[in-house]
Amino acid sequence: MTDTFDIAVIGGGIGGATAACHLAPDHSVVLLEQEAELAFHTTSRSAAIYLEGDGGGVMHRLNRSSRSFFDEAHPELDAPLLDPLPVLTVGTEGMEQQLRDQAERDSVLTPSIGYLEGSALHDLCPILQPKVVTCGILESTAASLDVMALHQLYVRRARDAGANIRRTSKVTGIERTAHGWRLTTASGAIECGAVVNAAGAWGDVVAELAGVQPLGLTPMRRTAFTARVDVDPTPWPFIYSHSSEYPCYFKPEAGQQLLCSLSDETPSEPVDARPLEIDVAMAIDHINTISTLNLRSVTATWAGLRTFAPDRDPVYGWDTDVEGFFWLCGQGGWGIVSSPAAGRITAAAFAGDGLPVDLADAGLIPADLAPRR
Ligand SMILES: Cc1cc2nc3c(=O)[nH]c(=O)nc-3n(C[C@H](O)[C@H](O)[C@H](O)COP(=O)(O)OP(=O)(O)OC[C@H]3O[C@@H](n4cnc5c(N)ncnc54)[C@H](O)[C@@H]3O)c2cc1C
Repeated sequence: MTDTFDIAVIGGGIGGATAACHLAPDHSVVLLEQEAELAFHTTSRSAAIYLEGDGGGVMHRLNRSSRSFFDEAHPELDAPLLDPLPVLTVGTEGMEQQLRDQAERDSVLTPSIGYLEGSALHDLCPILQPKVVTCGILESTAASLDVMALHQLYVRRARDAGANIRRTSKVTGIERTAHGWRLTTASGAIECGAVVNAAGAWGDVVAELAGVQPLGLTPMRRTAFTARVDVDPTPWPFIYSHSSEYPCYFKPEAGQQLLCSLSDETPSEPVDARPLEIDVAMAIDHINTISTLNLRSVTATWAGLRTFAPDRDPVYGWDTDVEGFFWLCGQGGWGIVSSPAAGRITAAAFAGDGLPVDLADAGLIPADLAPRR
């Protein structure tokens, strides 16, 4: 039997979930996820941070425009999506001018961003090593983000608007028909007018299935872990080291835990990513160098794939070579934060409109996000 929909969204991570949520009120939508659980891959493996001033100018604008969605009261949720957590990006001797310039540039869009040096850094985070950390950028309006609540909110709204959510439904074939596409999936055949490619690390694989030229998306593995500390870290900001010598980050969490990473970026095939011991060991070494912490052991490790287009900006738009194929890929390290904007952009594109007004007013044009830019 073949089921028919206006739109098939491929991928049940945050990208597919926001697309289904924003498209379902006006179209019949099926969301297809290959795994038995939604959000099984990168979406459930993030650091869960809301930050605006990182990821380049395009991402900065998308993230900033998403803030109002996070600040809204959503009747379905019993707690806010954001929990305030300033982010302190730190640098070592010789990086002062670079960070000062970056703060000046980024504060134009996000006024809460400011440059700090000397004792101001250690007042904010007393465990920073003053001999190593000399300068920093504080984004005081950053926050910790409830990723699973956000994902579930999108899925619930999609379902309430009539979307059909199918797990264990790997798409293995995508063929053109007279009116759109015919998909072969692990849970049956589907005919649809348009496809949304929200397959994360598998974005180019899905394109090739449809006979669409891939974009050169590169999945990059990043290992993360948690470690116990002897004191309560919750008064500290999130610390993000931009030093090329000591790259790392750590996020204070409840229960005397830190969520840590080396900030590694290792090209990978699209796979179920696994953590590397060497990346954990190097992160511990760097964290112990930039701080007075003495991390020795970890409580849990994991890895995820952050997927980038060649210019590292996200890809949201219709393929210009093949009709009815929409890309929602390449969100790199900020796919959770930018997801409200991604959903609105997708809905506007399906309605035949340009970019939402606030994003156009912020200086974005469709070519910034276009697949074949
Ligand atoms: C360590 C780490 C820290 C991060 N920290 C942050 C952060 O603090 N803030 C932030 O905003 N972002 C962060 N990110 C990035 C963020 O997690 C990603 O940008 C985002 O999750 C990408 O979502 P996605 O839906 O594109 O991909 P995914 O979540 O991987 O979803 C894609 C889905 O497509 C499915 N799929 C693929 N092929 C098929 C097929 N043929 N048929 C059916 N289904 C298919 C996959 O199974 C998968 O579930 C972090 C990432 C990592 C790894």
